[in-house]
Amino acid sequence: MSFDLSKIVRGNIKSLKPYSSARHEFSGNASIFLDANENAYGTPLEEDYNRYPDPLQWQLKFQLARIKGVPAENIFVGNGSDEVIDLAFRIFCDPGKDNVIVCPPTYGMYEVSAGINDVAVRKVFLTDDHQLNVPAVLGAIDEHTKLLFICSPNNPTGNNMRGEDVERLLTSFDGLVIIDEAYINYSRQRSFIFELTKFPNLVVMQTLSKAWGMAALRIGFCFASMDIIDLFNKVKPPYNINEASQQLATEALQNTALVNGWISETVEQRQRLSIELTQFRFVKNVFPSDANFLLVRVADSDALYDFLTGEKIVVRNRSKEPGCENCLRITIGAPVENKKLIQAFKKFEE
Ligand SMILES: *Cc1c(COP(=O)(O)O)cnc(C)c1O
Repeated sequence: MSFDLSKIVRGNIKSLKPYSSARHEFSGNASIFLDANENAYGTPLEEDYNRYPDPLQWQLKFQLARIKGVPAENIFVGNGSDEVIDLAFRIFCDPGKDNVIVCPPTYGMYEVSAGINDVAVRKVFLTDDHQLNVPAVLGAIDEHTKLLFICSPNNPTGNNMRGEDVERLLTSFDGLVIIDEAYINYSRQRSFIFELTKFPNLVVMQTLSKAWGMAALRIGFCFASMDIIDLFNKVKPPYNINEASQQLATEALQNTALVNGWISETVEQRQRLSIELTQFRFVKNVFPSDANFLLVRVADSDALYDFLTGEKIVVRNRSKEPGCENCLRITIGAPVENKKLIQAFKKFEE
């Protein structure tokens, strides 16, 4: 197969003339800005937020580029990964006609976004060992298949998808392969951002919501070819990332040492918790994890869930997901929280 980006973009997006903001149209040096109907007096706060933010978030992108080793031009920043996912549907999928492939059990937002955009979802379930069913994915592709979502490490199973399976899909599918790497900082596997030059149909999503500890700022991003990034920029709302989030995230990205410390600690706690949880008689399986959570199969997930809630500990009941019968998804907490979790498990066993 051969990938041709122009063949998979929706006709209305190809011919779209994007909104041109005041800050877009003027580039030069000026000291008086009377072009955007802003309030020239200021903001009733310590900091001023009266000016529209940079539509392309260059300062933030330069920081990301430095940390990730990918040129800033190959980065798109969204209002959370959720915006990146939604834009992918709106750029590539004709409602009521096109379809996408997802591999459950996986992140629920791909299907929700598909539903909002009236795009059909083809579900190709993971194998029993939570890996991609490559022949079944290839069999599900037709001429209307535009996107393939791969979550690695996968939520809620916690494992990485095998690299060679992902590469096979990248080479044999001529739509976009979107790899969601929300948990990549906790993974032993290398990120696919290093393969961007090799695969023109690759989009890698990451986020500041997990390891970076900035879920409330709503910063998700994707890495892709400049042609793909241009399409995202064309369709996004002009000021999709607010100034406060841009500034705070740019500042936080300087502190890699602190974040790397948390990542090591989380991985250590994951290892410990995994061993400790395995000791309980009612725990049937603790699935291997490359993320900051564990998927745990127990004898009766609903009973344990209710008991933990009574102990004021809330986990995620995933038992209704395909292949996750009697499974709870438990986030790795701070050491004291993990201790309390173990104590609650002990109390439940009595
Ligand atoms: C948490 C999570 C995200 C992050 O979404 P944001 O909108 O960036 O907060 C993305 N993908 C998966 C699989 C997740 O679990």
